[in-house]
Amino acid sequence: MMSGEAYRTVKDLPTEEFMAPGNPLCAGCGGLLAVRLFHKALGGKVVWVNAAGCITMLSVYPYSPLQSSWLYTAFASAPAGAQGIRDALDLMIKKGKISPDEDLKVVVVSGDGAAYDIGLQSTLGAVQRKLDFYYLCYDNEAYGNTGFQMSSATPYGSSSATTEPTASFPEGNTGHKKDLFEVWKSQKPAYLATISTAQTVDFLQKVEKSTRITGPKLFISPVGCPTGWGYDPQETIRVEKLGLETGIWPLKEYVDGRVKHTHVPGAMKPVEQYLETQARFKHLFKPEKRDEVISRIQEDVNNYWTMASRAEGFHVRLIGT
Ligand code: SF4
Repeated sequence: MMSGEAYRTVKDLPTEEFMAPGNPLCAGCGGLLAVRLFHKALGGKVVWVNAAGCITMLSVYPYSPLQSSWLYTAFASAPAGAQGIRDALDLMIKKGKISPDEDLKVVVVSGDGAAYDIGLQSTLGAVQRKLDFYYLCYDNEAYGNTGFQMSSATPYGSSSATTEPTASFPEGNTGHKKDLFEVWKSQKPAYLATISTAQTVDFLQKVEKSTRITGPKLFISPVGCPTGWGYDPQETIRVEKLGLETGIWPLKEYVDGRVKHTHVPGAMKPVEQYLETQARFKHLFKPEKRDEVISRIQEDVNNYWTMASRAEGFHVRLIGT
């Protein structure tokens, strides 16, 4: 196994694939790419425990593009499923029924619907019990598999199937995205990070680093969703990059009781450049530009980075300050 530092450039990306091409997910799905990369970083000895969501379509009996094992669970049950598998593996190793070499990494994979809403309580229970597992949330900021209804990850100002702009609510979603990183951090997991497939090296370094840590290892990966967000599938990485460059998606990790940002944009781009790439924000630009909503989104980003830079002592050039 490589050390985290061995992933220095994209040339260090493992070439081994654990997912065959061809599956029913949408072209350009950022969630699919996150799962593929996560698998590369963990290696082949993995059992996925899937909470209902878009990625469920990846492996529908009797077909699977994965070389690894797969357990499908209801929305709220994936961490409980992970507990059962972890306990079974530990017992079989203890009784000599399998050798330690045959052990598997137990990985929950869920969308934001299960992670932020329906399955949050079972995740917090697993973290409380210090379950030795991985949790990958591919966060496309809505219930993508059922028609793009709002979840508590849906950002302010976004249109979704249940937050379409109206005369009373011209901005679309009036609520704000739940800070799942802070919710999970409150229970002091062994490792917690945000990752992005647009920052592959950072992604691999974090996942590989976590393999040397015992306990709950939690990851939130904001992912581009061409179908729900409304952009050309070939633009996924460009849109994701803009999420990072505008500061909307901070990359950070929590380990040993400390939060550290792992990628600080040298000079932020205006949030507008990210918003205008996606149809879910088009009502902020047409028929008239909604400067007050865009300014509020920019202000939220500026406030976030002001607090983070003060806490960690780094410098950041914000928009309009
Ligand atoms: S709806 Fe979005 S997240 Fe779901 S499979 Fe399609 S592109 Fe991926």
